[in-house]
Amino acid sequence: MSEKRTELSDLGEFGLIDRIKNSVKISNDTTKLGIGDDSAILDTKQGQLLISTDMLLEGIHFDLSYAPLAHLGYKAVAVNVSDIAAMNGVASQLTVNIGLSNRFSLEAVDTLYQGILKACEDFKLDLIGGDTSSSASGLVISVTAIGSADEKHIVRRSGANKGDIICVTGDLGAAYLGLQVLEREKQVFLTNPEMQPQLDKYDYIVQRQLKPTARMDIIHELAELSVLPTAMIDISDGLGSELFHIAKESQVGVQIYEDKLPIDKQTYDTGYELGIDATTAAVNGGEDYELLFTISQEDYEKVKNHSDIHFIGYVKERSEGCKMVSKQGNLVDITAQGWNHIKTKN
Ligand code: ADP
Ligand code: MG
Repeated sequence: MSEKRTELSDLGEFGLIDRIKNSVKISNDTTKLGIGDDSAILDTKQGQLLISTDMLLEGIHFDLSYAPLAHLGYKAVAVNVSDIAAMNGVASQLTVNIGLSNRFSLEAVDTLYQGILKACEDFKLDLIGGDTSSSASGLVISVTAIGSADEKHIVRRSGANKGDIICVTGDLGAAYLGLQVLEREKQVFLTNPEMQPQLDKYDYIVQRQLKPTARMDIIHELAELSVLPTAMIDISDGLGSELFHIAKESQVGVQIYEDKLPIDKQTYDTGYELGIDATTAAVNGGEDYELLFTISQEDYEKVKNHSDIHFIGYVKERSEGCKMVSKQGNLVDITAQGWNHIKTKN
């Protein structure tokens, strides 16, 4: 391979931090000071602060044999922005901690940061700091997103009321099936390295797994429509698991309808091919990073024509539990299989 490789040791930690600092452009006026001092400075006049953090570990949360570094950087940011969005907040700043083994060259770190900075641009965030360390066991990325919301507009998991309409954005199950395809292609490659991965016909679901987006757009649109959800959560562990969280925190039951679940055609087709039921992927898969929220019935008129918000069921009495009406009309229990990395990886 003729790709250039510069050792990180040639630059040193401070050289690397300088390089990151020089690639950052501050765009939010709440950011008073970014990278370069002992601490960043934020102006917190705007409402209440929201802080969310996530850690991604190589071999547990991602596999570098198929996750390109730029996508990984993007995803690490998007999943945190998604958590701020799920509070009905707007994310504005970001810190990034990275642990790097000597397997990583400067070019690899640059690629990772290209993804991080692209996400910062897409979601209008300022990268304001972080920490850099060497790692003895693969790549570690820990991202913290900082955002804000007016106190009156913050939406928790706990506010759903009986009779509310359950809404979900985008479509579900694609990221899970995308992962199954990537795992399959990896096994094919391991047995026969001459084989090139056949991913063209899975482009949508693979991209949903590798480079998810955060639905900050929906947060702005709900504000424009003057709709304040009663409860909200982002879908990281799967619809079923998130419904359980809302039900538990709000002390309610839920009933959704299988035929209302938004599922993309490529998800259906791939599920069929792999012998995985698309509904199971949608309910028990994960990593969709769409928003699940409840609205009062009075707000329905305001959102009913939104092309990317789908109405999948109703909030019920706590005693009714968490149920799904199947396509055949049967009432079935929803199971909450979280996206359990310990269970799915070996
Ligand atoms: P300290 O010794 O005070 O922890 P560092 O040398 O770790 O300082 O960091 C110097 C500056 O660079 C700080 O502003 C810090 O937030 C920032 N920084 C360090 N690592 C990263 C990184 N991986 N990404 C973004 N900013 C970073
Ligand atoms: Mg430090």
